[in-house]
Amino acid sequence: MTLPRSSAPANGADDMGWRNFPSHSAFQTWSLRPRVPRLGAMATRLYTHPIFLEHLTPPGHPERPDRLRAIERVLDDEAFSALDRVKAPEGDEKTILYAHPENFVERVRAAIPQSGIVSIDADTSASPKSWQAAVTAIGAANAAVDDVFEGRASNVFVAARPPGHHAEKATAMGFCLFNTAAIAARHAQKKHQAERVAIVDWDVHHGNGTQDIFWDDPSVLYCSTHQMPLYPGTGAKSETGAGNIVNVPLAPRTGSDMFRDAFRSRVLPSIDAFAPDLIIISAGFDAHHRDPLAEINLTEDDFDWATGQLMERAGRHSSNRLVSLLEGGYDLQGLAFSVAAHVGRLMKG
Ligand SMILES: [Zn+2]
Repeated sequence: MTLPRSSAPANGADDMGWRNFPSHSAFQTWSLRPRVPRLGAMATRLYTHPIFLEHLTPPGHPERPDRLRAIERVLDDEAFSALDRVKAPEGDEKTILYAHPENFVERVRAAIPQSGIVSIDADTSASPKSWQAAVTAIGAANAAVDDVFEGRASNVFVAARPPGHHAEKATAMGFCLFNTAAIAARHAQKKHQAERVAIVDWDVHHGNGTQDIFWDDPSVLYCSTHQMPLYPGTGAKSETGAGNIVNVPLAPRTGSDMFRDAFRSRVLPSIDAFAPDLIIISAGFDAHHRDPLAEINLTEDDFDWATGQLMERAGRHSSNRLVSLLEGGYDLQGLAFSVAAHVGRLMKG
């Protein structure tokens, strides 16, 4: 009942993980194959879009288009044939203002180059199609929120880039231009009258941007598990905002048991106390043991488990409303296997 285990942790952000990537036939042996939904039952929806491959980063940059190609390849398997695959809709630029001030939005727009790649900060860059990619990522996330509130999907995974959780109110950073998860949370509040939205961020880096945006807003619970110390340096347990921020820092070399204990003892009780109308997952997969950017040792099974725990909470509090947004994950094999476990669990309903 387990996914193929990846081997030793990778030492670099290279694409050579593919050498160990199982062939198509290997996937046939997976026992996580989801049940085929009953006739009329809602399916798990997947949003993606070719524009997400056109946000370009400099050669050797870990946040690269091949990440989405790896996800696309793994989800092409027959095991995922019941996924309701939908091309992400065009985003509404006005919704960026739900989380960011207009002068910042215009600064980002003005920084988009006509050609080539420009640096926004030391590790964040933009290419000619980056604006359209970022706005489409927001469009997909908002559409996912609409889907779960309007009954078109049982839950949704958005495979988009650039990621978003490091983008603060007025700062693009950490590979992120706009904070997609924060905008989607506000969208749920504005369009669907959600009173309380929980964002659970298991990316290995602290989502300083999401914390910044909701720091004094008790209508949004932000729970993050992340390695500490690590970029961006925020995320101490003592950072609690208006009582709505729950940071669960993890020491380097934390493995499955300690992660699950932390999730059980800090994240899940916070969700129960908050009773959200919607759960959004900032789903980064860079806490996988193969990831080159961090030193947490999770496996695909841990993402399967954590997904199941949040689905159970969504069932208890949120009428099953759960939207998952891709954040980080930089080892292509670790990313692909983890997304397969995550989406496979979502499809089990
Ligand atoms: Zn990350």
